Amino acid sequence: ISLFTSPIETLVNSTETFQKAIAGFRRMDEVMRTAPDIQDKKDARPLVVTEGAIEYSSVCFTYPDTETSDDGTALERPVIDHMNLSIRPGETIALVGPSGGGKSTTCSLLPRFYDVASGSITIDGQDVRDVTQDSLRRAIGLVQQDVYLFDGTLRDNIAYGRPGATDEEIEHAARQANIHEFISSLPEGYDTVVGERGSRLSGGQKQRVAIARVFLKNPAILILDEATSALDNESEEAVQESLERLAQDRTTIIIAHRLSTIKNADEIATVERGKVMERGTHEELLARGGTYARYYRMQFEGARSHEL
Ligand code: ATP
Repeated sequence: ISLFTSPIETLVNSTETFQKAIAGFRRMDEVMRTAPDIQDKKDARPLVVTEGAIEYSSVCFTYPDTETSDDGTALERPVIDHMNLSIRPGETIALVGPSGGGKSTTCSLLPRFYDVASGSITIDGQDVRDVTQDSLRRAIGLVQQDVYLFDGTLRDNIAYGRPGATDEEIEHAARQANIHEFISSLPEGYDTVVGERGSRLSGGQKQRVAIARVFLKNPAILILDEATSALDNESEEAVQESLERLAQDRTTIIIAHRLSTIKNADEIATVERGKVMERGTHEELLARGGTYARYYRMQFEGARSHEL
């Protein structure tokens, strides 16, 4: 897939976010291609989600193909370094921290795009390496910054979340994602063809189609890679509102960039050098005056109007 055929430029408002969006996309693209290397164990069983509790215990991980880091020096330090993180059923936890700290990697280990080098990750007590990948990935919904739509109808693009869904179910999911009204306003409604990579839709509309997919999939666990790019205000609000609805009653991990998201999360975990450095509510962490307080001051103070 070419990175440059999408109207990504229209989604971003600075060189920095543009590069970041591309980096994020490239990573996930890579991840999707890497995934087939991971095999089910012979005696793998389907994951049974009872509550949606997630537990990272002393997780270490280094990318398999990394011999040198970006600046050409040998990379020996693990990307994830004895990480401990337990997430309660239904909780929304926001991961924040410096670029390269390990937030995306933490998230990609949960659906087992890569296997941990040591330690373990469990969902309701079941090690993700012991369950079938099919059942694991069915339990986890992913909403990323860069949405992948294929050149089919809106109906088919939403139904991708759960093949075989009825028109009624598709419409219900679209309503929950705040995209039904828009779709209904189109002359061809759900039969509208979205164009190559969804080129006929705006960034916010594409995101809401992706969110509708996840509503239809109805996973117990959700990973949100929050868009760093600026959507117009109306889109932004519609996207935020549907994401909040989506996160309700699901265990949710958000790679958070917005102050509003961070403040609304049940808890925040700062991820730096592959570890969770601090964890607590926004107020607790500010009061502590540690890493988060520093990060918060750097990222958000004086920048409230355009929330990074
Ligand atoms: P950002 O906020 O910039 O998205 P992050 O906190 O999500 O950063 P990660 O993307 O998890 O951090 O990156 C952690 C480290 O792993 C970085 O040094 C990064 O360069 C490296 N890394 C990330 N993805 C890969 C990959 N697919 N292959 C090799 N190294 C990678």
